[in-house]
Amino acid sequence: MNIELLKNKTVLVTGGAGFIGSNLCETLLSNNIKTICLDNFATGKRKNIIPFTEDKNFKLIEGDIRNLNDCQNACDGIDYILHQAALGSVPRSINDPITTNDVNVSGFLNMLVAARDAKVKRFVYAASSSTYGDHEALPKVEGTIGKPLSPYAITKYVNELYADIFNKTYGLDTIGLRYFNVFGKRQDPNGAYAAVIPKFVQQLMNHESPIINGDGSYSRDFTYIDNVVQMNIRALTTKNELALNTIYNVAYGERTTLLELAVLLKTYLSEFDSAIKNLEIKHRDNRIGDIPHSLASINKAKKLLNYQPQFDISSGLKEAVSWYYKNI
Ligand code: NAD
Repeated sequence: MNIELLKNKTVLVTGGAGFIGSNLCETLLSNNIKTICLDNFATGKRKNIIPFTEDKNFKLIEGDIRNLNDCQNACDGIDYILHQAALGSVPRSINDPITTNDVNVSGFLNMLVAARDAKVKRFVYAASSSTYGDHEALPKVEGTIGKPLSPYAITKYVNELYADIFNKTYGLDTIGLRYFNVFGKRQDPNGAYAAVIPKFVQQLMNHESPIINGDGSYSRDFTYIDNVVQMNIRALTTKNELALNTIYNVAYGERTTLLELAVLLKTYLSEFDSAIKNLEIKHRDNRIGDIPHSLASINKAKKLLNYQPQFDISSGLKEAVSWYYKNI
């Protein structure tokens, strides 16, 4: 991974106050790279970026990607973009498809237009494993998708279509990264739309039973944040022309059931608080829009971007659990 290539360049991270975006900002800043964060704090947190505000290489632009002017201001003088800003969560998109579409589709289009007009060198964006929809075959391979199962999944697929057209029509270089269930430090455990890992960690730390939707046999390719950061930097810096203007799965390449996950979290958290090992794991009905299983092929990322995930689920969970224990 040649992050040195970004020296003296300026990278815009949209959604930089969020979970993935703040981890991207942290890596860029720790390598002395000028980093601009565009965020409207819809789901991102000021506390996620407070440590960066002392850094002379960091600048925050408070703005909304639904506003083209905000996107144009943020893209001024920018070399590269890591576009993370979006409203995540399948249930949120089912409850409010209009706002999800406004941010994830119209906001995405605004960012593409602003990137094109500012002659940005490369536009790397957060896509999603939800694009595989109802296609059941495992592992998921980039070229074969099914029909979307939620408004959120539609928005993320539309992003891929727009990125492709902006390359073909205007010559903007893009790379889409289909993230698979990312977890790690600063992922928000609070709110109705929290992801499963931080939610279970918080429940266990509060001595509450984690509640699994369904019998626990559904499985996911849980992906530690450092693997995701690695892929973003590889996508920004690759000199391989064949690696551009396409999409990649970003995952570890193994799947873990929800029940296995809950047991692993109990085990790792029990090392900090022994009472946690006696907590019961509970169940309720499956959620609408959830796919039963998800597992990525990461061969394309390995072949074209030399991706080498450093953290499997166990080592990633141990890092995450120890961070949560110290920080919430
Ligand atoms: P997050 O909610 O922590 O971060 C999203 C950020 O975007 C937040 O800081 C939020 O305030 C900002 N944002 C939202 N609407 C905005 C707007 N209108 N204008 C400006 N900023 C806005 O979520 P995350 O988990 O860090 O997700 C980052 C990206 O990765 C998203 O595009 C998401 O769809 C995608 N993704 C995440 C996962 C995952 O497992 N976390 C999986 C697949 C895809």
